[in-house]
Amino acid sequence: MTRGDEPLRVPASKRPLLVVADVAATYESAIIALSDVTMTVREGEMVALLGANGSGKTTTLRAISRLLSAERGQVTRGSIAFDGASTLRLGPADVVALGVAQVLEGRRCFPSLTVEENLVVGAVGGGARRRLVADGLQRVYNYFPRLAEKRRVAAGLCSGGEQQMTAIGRALMANPRCLLLDEPTIGLAPLVARELFAFLRVLNREEGVTVLVAEQNATLALRYADRAYVLEHGTVVLEGPAAELRLRDDIKHFYLGLGDSTASNASRSAFDRAARQRGRTDSSREYRAG
Ligand code: ATP
Repeated sequence: MTRGDEPLRVPASKRPLLVVADVAATYESAIIALSDVTMTVREGEMVALLGANGSGKTTTLRAISRLLSAERGQVTRGSIAFDGASTLRLGPADVVALGVAQVLEGRRCFPSLTVEENLVVGAVGGGARRRLVADGLQRVYNYFPRLAEKRRVAAGLCSGGEQQMTAIGRALMANPRCLLLDEPTIGLAPLVARELFAFLRVLNREEGVTVLVAEQNATLALRYADRAYVLEHGTVVLEGPAAELRLRDDIKHFYLGLGDSTASNASRSAFDRAARQRGRTDSSREYRAG
């Protein structure tokens, strides 16, 4: 890219780290889950991926972390690169080794293992040595002192918030440069959900971990993220700085469920018209208020 004749200097901290371009994906070679996903996450950013149920958030994350084939899915078009290297021929463990760790939807702790055993699984997956495991545990316990208290307790006996901390801690044991999270606040009380996003922000700002978080609670996500992409029917339909999206009426009414219903309907119709022009429409979908 150039500005006039000068090359545009991209600061190291702002260079693209994760680049998803023109991606389409299917399940069982039949169900079209993604038809056009293009997004860039720059190093050091916290980016939110928003959209209703079934819009393709999970599939996008699975495509990035190479977990689609476990669900009989595949990327059928486009490219995905992390730090300049294509990930499309890699296995899930290779992607973790590159520096991308995913916190799956639904917390996915091993309920009968202790909190600490759950954490160690993350390090073992990363092929870590004993010293690194100990350092990793210390780091996670510094982030989440509550987990240190519960280290010997079976994860299944912990609260939803503690299980989510354990799931995030497990991903952090791989010492990732980029953390992907799939709807981490599902089932959490509002206060716990806010604390979780505040934690992600600290991790992002103070530790420099790049964060891509899929979230249905758009209000919350837009409060903490730098930028956001909005998915509908497997297509990115909107993107922009979170501060701007928070202020935009169509986003507010259509995705956040704010404002009066007349304004909401008008905004929704405008949005549907725009979608129809692009050949996509569905006014029957429900968007959850944040
Ligand atoms: P949710 O919030 O419900 O998780 P999402 O935005 O993450 O929704 P996806 O789970 O990626 O959306 O779903 C995108 C599309 O792919 C949907 O039509 C969904 O039914 C379909 N889909 C998702 N997972 C599978 C699967 N394992 N097998 C078949 N179809 C799937």
